[in-house]
Amino acid sequence: MPDLDSVVREIAEEMAQRPDRGAVADYIPELAHVDPNQFGIAVIDADGRVISGGDSETPFSIQSVSKVFTLTLALGMAGDRLWKRVGREPSGNPFNSIVQLERERGVPRNPFINAGAIAVTDVILSGHEPREALGEILRFMQFLAQDPSITIDERVAASEKRTGFRNTALANYMKSFGVIENPVDYTLGVYFHHCAIAMTCRQLATAGRFLAHNGRNPSTGHNVVSAERARRINAIMLTCGHYDGSGEFAYRVGLPGKSGVGGAILAVAPGKASIAVWSPGLDAAGNSHLGRVALERLTQRMGWSVFGA
Ligand code: GLU
Repeated sequence: MPDLDSVVREIAEEMAQRPDRGAVADYIPELAHVDPNQFGIAVIDADGRVISGGDSETPFSIQSVSKVFTLTLALGMAGDRLWKRVGREPSGNPFNSIVQLERERGVPRNPFINAGAIAVTDVILSGHEPREALGEILRFMQFLAQDPSITIDERVAASEKRTGFRNTALANYMKSFGVIENPVDYTLGVYFHHCAIAMTCRQLATAGRFLAHNGRNPSTGHNVVSAERARRINAIMLTCGHYDGSGEFAYRVGLPGKSGVGGAILAVAPGKASIAVWSPGLDAAGNSHLGRVALERLTQRMGWSVFGA
């Protein structure tokens, strides 16, 4: 078995030097300013050892990686009733596509495309004020990452709100089918803000540990969800976590993972490790280019793919 410390060190060194870095997301103006020459990685093994490299302590906008955690919260609130509001099939479409919604009468394909995540946020919001719902999501992230200093980058949230015409269209369209219960502005406000949570690779990998260990953080002993629920969330990450790049990610990396347009990917090696990588340059499907390359290297070297060594 190769030594994890040297594998992570070599990956960080290679990624720092590669010329192919992808392109930063510029449809959210605040994200367009982020320096693409950054790469960070944090791997937390089953014993809680953190092995990190590159810019692993630099905070970034977690964007759609937050959808894993809002899905976890919404399942805790609504249980299987959640699946009346959102499906769990891969979309095969871009993350912000509107076409499929019409054919499917306003019920989004899965909780990780934008429409699906907005519907999930609406479930968390119901019965609460937007501020309370957002507080609940933020506290959940702080609890999972064991770090009360985690905050929301208000500039990113405001930037997305100003330019989020497509998400507004998706939400209004779902509202017309009764899939959104709350005022569209409220639901979108909470959605934009949870996407704008800022975290480091180490914090994100810590937050994801329950998914790698049957719903339980083995270091704190906290049972976050049942083993069955963790397994199912991982299944949705594997099939839907990278939009219409999900097949390619499974083929190359072979782990449940969720990407965000800020350039982060959270990946889970069941029973072995929780992994967060970050590099702001994206590929054509909106997934971190070097993040994916780094995870491909890591799983190949460590034999961690869920499909075999
Ligand atoms: N907040 C982003 C949006 O709604 C999330 C997209 C992503 O990270 O993939 O467009």
